[in-house]
Amino acid sequence: MSTTEVAKPVLPVLQDYAAIVGEPEITELRELARRLAGRHAKMVNSTAVGGGVAEILNRLVPLMEEVNVPTRWEVITGGEKFFHITKAFHNALHGAPYEGAADWFDTFLATNEENRRRMQFDEDFVVIHDPQPLALIAQRDSRPSHWVWRCHIDLSNPNEQVWDFLKPWVDRYDASLFSSPQFTRGLRIPQYLFFPTIDPLADKNRELEAVFVRGVLEQFHVDPARPILTQISRFDRLKDPVGVIRAYRLVKRYEDCQLVLAGGSATDDPEGAAVLREVEEAAGGDPDIHILNLPPWSHLEINALQRGSTIVIQKSLREGFGLTVSEALWKKKPVVASAVGGIPSQVIHKLTGMLVHSPEGTAYQIRFLLANPSFAKALGENGHQHVKEHFLLTQNLRRYLTLFLVLLEGD
Ligand code: UDP
Repeated sequence: MSTTEVAKPVLPVLQDYAAIVGEPEITELRELARRLAGRHAKMVNSTAVGGGVAEILNRLVPLMEEVNVPTRWEVITGGEKFFHITKAFHNALHGAPYEGAADWFDTFLATNEENRRRMQFDEDFVVIHDPQPLALIAQRDSRPSHWVWRCHIDLSNPNEQVWDFLKPWVDRYDASLFSSPQFTRGLRIPQYLFFPTIDPLADKNRELEAVFVRGVLEQFHVDPARPILTQISRFDRLKDPVGVIRAYRLVKRYEDCQLVLAGGSATDDPEGAAVLREVEEAAGGDPDIHILNLPPWSHLEINALQRGSTIVIQKSLREGFGLTVSEALWKKKPVVASAVGGIPSQVIHKLTGMLVHSPEGTAYQIRFLLANPSFAKALGENGHQHVKEHFLLTQNLRRYLTLFLVLLEGD
């Protein structure tokens, strides 16, 4: 087993964002970073592709480098059993029952220990993402390095057995970061609110020519002339793709619409294939349900599917944040999404989108928006502004730089 460093593609530079967020914001970021010049950071997570964490790190790490806070992104490795266990932890932390075998906690710690032995921790700041690499903190020595646990999971109602096991590890960190105030727990360490963010210049979000969008719809046999309802999500039960199909069927009784369920899988999620089969079964061969199992490099296709949609759905049962919601709002799309996890931070009911609690509610709001296109358009416009103010990559950079400065002050 060895840790792998993630390759860095050619990316936009900080100055490119001035056109979107304004020159003063960029100047302030440079000023903050200047105070950290020469400091090093490390980000650790458990997958290089798939899911929101990889999506964020892909864009954040190069910007940190550019502002002279060299940042190394490393991905821990583990066997099939380890990722099966961490997926069970993930579900349990989201409130699902936990039926782990007696040796699971030991296996979790042993894999963390194997990774720890192969990694070096020479940086000033180590940011550990989510529970999978949590126990790397065992490395902590007396050096003045600062350890931060970035939790992307909704911890508002965790399974106690799993949380009681993880909590003492979390309490060894200097600080914790959560995506919503509701997710914070009774910890001995400071807890900070850190919204995840999207990159407006990434292939996933940048402007596209209408002809390209149309071409992608045609490629997937989606008819641009009829309403298109879309959910983009990994095939994961917590994203409730089967519930989305139920909602679509309720709408379909009245509107000749189509449903696109586009997803893929993350390397740290072993359940994807089984969920995809469940979704195919639920679709029952309906030619207007397009189930697209996309490879991880499909950023432009996902961008085009979101832009080509009439309404974007995110019917999660549990959600850390739900980057897909901000992605759709940025594209000025009317969004119908569950009032769970970090989604209500993004979707303010009737202002930046519609919040729902069931397949029936989802269908009701979709029908309402299809019947009221000018209201739907206004939601999208407001949503774009809301994302611009709170959920763009430059804000994430600002939060990390500020956090690092705060940590240094405590030395
Ligand atoms: N995504 C993707 N391909 C897929 C499904 C999702 O690139 O097949 C992206 C999606 O556009 C978003 C991220 O993965 O940027 C998912 O983040 P989110 O916070 O919505 O959910 P998570 O997967 O982290 O639970």
